[in-house]
Amino acid sequence: MTIKYMGLIIDGKGLGGNLQAQAYEKQVLTLLKRIRTTLTGRALFRELRRYRKHIVRIRPSETDKDIGPNQNEARSRAKDWKRAMARNQPMLYNDGSPWAGNVSGTGRGSDTTVFFTPSGYGYPLTVLKSDQAIIAKLLCELQLAGAQADEVLFHELVHAMRQIRGLVFLGLLRDGFQNEEEFIAILLTNIYSSETHRPPRSNHLDLRCEADDTDAVFLPELNPPTYRSLTIGKLVLQQQEMALEIGAVPADFNPIRQYYKLERISRVNQKRSAWAGTQVRGRNRNSHLLPRWGKVPGPLSANWHRRHRHRAAVHRRCQGLIKNRR
Ligand SMILES: [Zn+2]
Repeated sequence: MTIKYMGLIIDGKGLGGNLQAQAYEKQVLTLLKRIRTTLTGRALFRELRRYRKHIVRIRPSETDKDIGPNQNEARSRAKDWKRAMARNQPMLYNDGSPWAGNVSGTGRGSDTTVFFTPSGYGYPLTVLKSDQAIIAKLLCELQLAGAQADEVLFHELVHAMRQIRGLVFLGLLRDGFQNEEEFIAILLTNIYSSETHRPPRSNHLDLRCEADDTDAVFLPELNPPTYRSLTIGKLVLQQQEMALEIGAVPADFNPIRQYYKLERISRVNQKRSAWAGTQVRGRNRNSHLLPRWGKVPGPLSANWHRRHRHRAAVHRRCQGLIKNRR
């Protein structure tokens, strides 16, 4: 028996008996339902469903050939890595070294399996609002940011989502993020954690958290570009619908929202200076808002000369009338 939820297949087969398999499936289902109570989680499920021609299966860690029986590990394994990797990008291993023969991915997307066992992680409890700050502090002190079962599952589902879309690129990154895919998985999981009042995780190598890791500290500006702004910019371009949905999540830590904000500011500045360049002469209604160099005096138009000649003629005629009257 397997359980199907939001297009995902939960399959506890290989856990000894039927009862164990059923218990496993129920535990995973509870976690998925919990994830779906959040806005970030709903955006992730919607993105998974947009590409539902590929199957995502969730199976116990113990059934993966590379994860030992007592290992506390989770991973997402694409069925066909060539299809899971980004189109025309070199296929790389986790450490950034290229595959034999320097092959490129096709970006067609692949079925994938998430190997994950909830019992290896702390179970997310329902915390009273008044206790949320204390629990967040405790998680930081114990260095357990992003380590609860639902957060680990969310992280793996992000990997799975990138694999079914055929967007995986394992380019190396700094600051312990290891590669672009881990950066994206940690970024989105951190927004989920923040939405559920838990601290964001600092990097992929450990489970520390940074108390002041708000989106403004994480992504202060777009220029000069950093690996953070470039990778978020890439994600926003590749998965526009999901990025817009997650960017609207009112979590304390939300660098996607910050990215859109900075982009909007720089776009307004660009527009403003481009418009200022077209204003050649004189004051207009908004000229006090523009930078000073925007008000460059330009040549007077033919229309201005015609109007000026007409006014001069009228003036002369009036003067003549006044003279004659005297
Ligand atoms: Zn990962």
